[in-house]
Amino acid sequence: MTDTPIKQVTVLGSTGSIGLSTLDVLAQHPQRFAVYALTANRSVDALYQQCMTYQPVYAVMACVDSADQLQQRLAAAGSATQVLGGPSGLEQVASADAVDAVMAAIVGATGLAPTLAAARAGKTVLLANKEALVMAGHLFMAAVAESGATLLPIDSEHNAIFQCLPPAAVGGGVGTTGVSKILLTASGGPFRDWTAAQISAATPEQACAHPNWSMGRKISVDSATLMNKGLELVEACWLFDVSSDFVEVVVHPQSIIHSMVQYVDGSVLAQLGNPDMRTPIAHALGWPERIASGVRELDMIEIGRLDFEPPDVSRFPCLELARDAVRQGGTAMAVLNAANEEAVAAFLDGRVGFMDIPRVIASVLSRADAPEPSSLDVVTQTDEQARELARQTIAGR
Ligand code: NAD
Ligand code: MG
Repeated sequence: MTDTPIKQVTVLGSTGSIGLSTLDVLAQHPQRFAVYALTANRSVDALYQQCMTYQPVYAVMACVDSADQLQQRLAAAGSATQVLGGPSGLEQVASADAVDAVMAAIVGATGLAPTLAAARAGKTVLLANKEALVMAGHLFMAAVAESGATLLPIDSEHNAIFQCLPPAAVGGGVGTTGVSKILLTASGGPFRDWTAAQISAATPEQACAHPNWSMGRKISVDSATLMNKGLELVEACWLFDVSSDFVEVVVHPQSIIHSMVQYVDGSVLAQLGNPDMRTPIAHALGWPERIASGVRELDMIEIGRLDFEPPDVSRFPCLELARDAVRQGGTAMAVLNAANEEAVAAFLDGRVGFMDIPRVIASVLSRADAPEPSSLDVVTQTDEQARELARQTIAGR
């Protein structure tokens, strides 16, 4: 161990799937990292336990009533952790001077404001919250360039691509470095082998039972519809400054290869590993060094074979909807994201069927305004209008 100064880390969304994996990796390296702030929406019990274990300087709850409850419980336990409530608290701990790195692991559009605050403050931003980039990629990448923030992808595919790109290509300029294509891998989700009729009758529990990854419910449904791959396509375009034609989606059911980069000389570089998010999290936390993650070693003999197939856009129309939205440009991606979040929430609540998700998104995309994303206000307004249209569409089904 070198005498590197301890990095102060804020974990936005610390009670979620990515948040828990992040805390697991941080706890393996107490000489490298200290937890500056932990945040959650309204899970008071979970955040209380985390505060007692990690003793952060701050704990933030997006829900103000939950923040009051947490404050009382921590005070009664004699904890020195200070509690903040509401969106301003999230932005404060994402951009505070004392913070070096921010894990952006809030799910959905709510993650945009604090993640953008971290980027504007020039932090090392470990980006799991793909929805933030999908909604406001233009503003987000401009903020990173302006502040000199370091943006490191946590999404396993984008982390893999980052690892396979030549160093000169990172931060844009992929086209001049001999890279000819990005091969974005997809597991195909739990319904890869299902017929269209079976998929139509799918329940939330079936959609959330991913064959390879254990994740939050929203991203699990996105993986089942393949919208997750659509969002990741957009994420790749922003992160690596390429057009959507440069990115080919390849279904790889074993989720051992996490994505690939093809070069003009015919070489293809791939990053492999067991499907465990602690690998990309440790890669980004340690970068440019390598640190242990606690992930089981990959055993190629045990795996035996790796398969590949094209995505089936007729059973999984969401991927094409994302490509359409990218081509449309402007804030069409924010519209797509908002309609998807509303449709997925309705599906998880049992208000619509699984195949209503793409139907609602297509309907909203064809009707919503998608102006140029000139400011965060424009993006937020577009998001709200698209949500309203989606809610009306859902209520009418
Ligand atoms: P999750 O549902 O397990 O956790 C979400 C976290 O966000 C929780 O801590 C929750 O308290 C917090 N949160 C939810 N709503 C909030 C709100 N309104 N205000 C403030 N905080 C709120 O989700 P997850 O699976 O950990 O995913 C988090 C993000 O990471 C998503 O954007 C997802 O797409 C991305 N991601 C996840 C995985 C994975 O393996 N889970 C992989 C790649 C990318
Ligand atoms: Mg992914």
